[in-house]
Amino acid sequence: MIEMIDPITTSETPAAPDAPERVDLLGLSRQQLAAVLAPVVDKPFRVKQIHQALYERGVRDFSAMTDLSKELRARLAERFRIGLPAIASRHESSDGTCKYLFRLHDGATVEAVDIPDEGRHTFCISSQAGCALACTFCVTGYWGAGRNLTAGEIVAQVLAIRADRDLPAEGLNIVFMGMGEPLLNVESVKGALDVLTESISPQRITVSTVGILPGLEEMARWERRPNLAISLHAPDEERRSQVMPVNRTYPLAELLPALRRYPLEKGRKLTFEYILIRGFNDSLRDADQLSRLLTGLKAKINLIPVNPDPVLGERMQPPDDARVEAFKQRLRQRGWIATVRRRRGDDVSAACGQLRAFGRDPRGFRKKS
Ligand code: SAH
Repeated sequence: MIEMIDPITTSETPAAPDAPERVDLLGLSRQQLAAVLAPVVDKPFRVKQIHQALYERGVRDFSAMTDLSKELRARLAERFRIGLPAIASRHESSDGTCKYLFRLHDGATVEAVDIPDEGRHTFCISSQAGCALACTFCVTGYWGAGRNLTAGEIVAQVLAIRADRDLPAEGLNIVFMGMGEPLLNVESVKGALDVLTESISPQRITVSTVGILPGLEEMARWERRPNLAISLHAPDEERRSQVMPVNRTYPLAELLPALRRYPLEKGRKLTFEYILIRGFNDSLRDADQLSRLLTGLKAKINLIPVNPDPVLGERMQPPDDARVEAFKQRLRQRGWIATVRRRRGDDVSAACGQLRAFGRDPRGFRKKS
């Protein structure tokens, strides 16, 4: 069932029209909070209290920070805001998957998903409100570019889902597999990771990318690196460029050497995501070619039968189960760890970008070339 929630009753309190733009506190690490709050708070432990209220209790409003004096709460509210998004719609599937459409400060909308699995929760979050890369199998790409999210808007998705589902930070997995390309918004993603890793181990966080080379080089220099997943989707340049135009800018010929140089901590592996599209990249020869392409890399391969959607056209269909299984087995015979991503939340249009598309007038769709 879809619940369309009235944004007026759920959005943050609007500032007076002539008030200066208030600074969003979400997205600031403990250290950054201390610096920003210095002119307002009187004692250092107040920063700790505010940090806790923001990230452990997930408060929406300064008035809920009841361990602070009324006067301090008022001073905070004058200068700062807590950028938790409004839930524009919320969508719970029969398998427990819960999809959210969040409305941000400026009206932009992004999706995030909570995927429970045997008591463990994985949150799939967005890094951009839209995507410019136009991959042919992706609904978000179909709609086109949006803006970069701020670090606060990325962290806020996690907080908003936690609040809605009443979940602690401990034990969560986070994947940057929602809308957008995280490595085209490296600064905000890094800022968000700095906050998220205050309570969640970087080993429980995965950044998924098409392989933007400058972004990868930057990530390689980070001290606490999350896991890295690469969207591969085809075993050769020609086919990859066909479905992922970005391959013309960052081709496999440059991506694979960059991944071979990428510093992996002991015991960690890269993840390769490979969408299976019927009749396009799903033959046993393709599995062999994929296996050769990845030779020498410490990696696991996640096979994803493509999620069809009307806007993607008739040809974007998954192979049947037997073919998916055969592809997986061939990779395993070649020595790879290969898994098939189970489809979740099918009954609620769970594919990337589909939730946002739901509320739109189809006449607004951009024509497919
Ligand atoms: N831009 C990043 C992260 C967002 S997409 C990236 O490309 O990795 C997250 C994953 O969802 C990617 O592997 C993407 O290829 C996959 N995806 C997009 N559309 C899909 C669809 N229709 N069916 C199955 N997977 C899809």
